Amino acid sequence: METDPIRVCELIVGLPDVNVLGVEDLGAGRPLRLHIECRGPRPACEECGSPADVKDRPQVELVDLPAFGRPVRTVWRKHRWRCPDFECPTSSWTGVDTRIAAPRLGLTDRAGRWATIQVGKCGWTVSEVARELDCDWHIVNDAVLAYGEALLEADTDRVGQVTALGMDETLFARVGVWRRQLWSTSIVDVAQGVLLDVVPGRGGTEPTAWLASQGNEWLSQVEWVTLDLSSPYRAVFDTMLPDATQIADPFHLVKLANSKLDECRRRVQNETLGHRGRKTDPLYRIRRLLTKADERLDDRGRSKLLGLLAAGDPKGEVKTTWHAKEVIRSIYEIDDPDLADEFVSRLAVDLQDTAYPPEVRSLGRTLRRWKDHIVAWHRGRATNGPTEAVNNLIKRIKRIAFGFRRFRSFRIRALLYAGRPNWDLLATITPR
Ligand SMILES: [Zn+2]
Repeated sequence: METDPIRVCELIVGLPDVNVLGVEDLGAGRPLRLHIECRGPRPACEECGSPADVKDRPQVELVDLPAFGRPVRTVWRKHRWRCPDFECPTSSWTGVDTRIAAPRLGLTDRAGRWATIQVGKCGWTVSEVARELDCDWHIVNDAVLAYGEALLEADTDRVGQVTALGMDETLFARVGVWRRQLWSTSIVDVAQGVLLDVVPGRGGTEPTAWLASQGNEWLSQVEWVTLDLSSPYRAVFDTMLPDATQIADPFHLVKLANSKLDECRRRVQNETLGHRGRKTDPLYRIRRLLTKADERLDDRGRSKLLGLLAAGDPKGEVKTTWHAKEVIRSIYEIDDPDLADEFVSRLAVDLQDTAYPPEVRSLGRTLRRWKDHIVAWHRGRATNGPTEAVNNLIKRIKRIAFGFRRFRSFRIRALLYAGRPNWDLLATITPR
């Protein structure tokens, strides 16, 4: 057992080749301040080899991991060295030890790696980590981006062979006075539910370039591609993956049906009450129940839904659209591809009946236009798994996809959280 107090302190602090100068306690609620300096031989001038003199002892305060329930600041008394030889072109330099902290980052190295895992792997927000460390948001964010980017660069095997590929547009920020929308395209391994990459914009150019950079052999292994129902991505797939079977993504079809239902609800609300939805309006009160899957409604939700529909939907238009949405969802309960083909064809005709609200007729036209792509899902799938996986993935991306000002930051955060990087590599990398 170690009993020398200084040595005990150094053991607890756990930094390599460091002298602990003291621990400063400024009172409860404030961080403990741990003063350290590097231990080791005096360096020689790189230019002329003369043993260096100490010029200065600047202090750098770093956010460290909490200890004993208290936030910690490690105050590193650095050495600023000077070459004693006046003839030598080297004037002075500061000692660096990346085991303590990477240059320019405000966190110690161990705190930086820990923060990167919390945010990247566990999905904590940067604010949550900053609160835990009792420090500024930017300090944590800068560290996560620096370590995260280095990890992603080191992880060269991350994008493996893919047999089913999907693309999806994601809004990741609104910037400026006009809240201008910044879009990106997620490129997804649909079978595994893994985010492969994120490229800027939602046009075809960047995704095409990304696919081209994967090489012909990689491209030739992609058997299936999934599409949302309106996208420029179809042209990307036509060009880059002409042999892959195109599948309309069930997730997007159901999402479209839900958005048509929303549209119908808002229109009927406006027509019957003459204003946009308010808290007390019957249709506004059931807006969430409407888009919920029917089997997930309990009896209470169901009777509330039907009661308020009766009150707020005199011509039964919202109810009709709600039924249409549920029928569209049921497309994916059909196992037999030929049956599904017949079902979708007939449904496309039925929904276009002139007696129906315009939103339902629009869904009918979509079904007609995309029938082969929709049924391709039934012909191509092995299990229900992929849709589940992609839904979860999209939730993961959505969870972090806001508040970014720059594409680069969003891409790193999205890939750390949804791109399954090899976290074992984190210990081996140097932050950028
Ligand atoms: Zn020198």
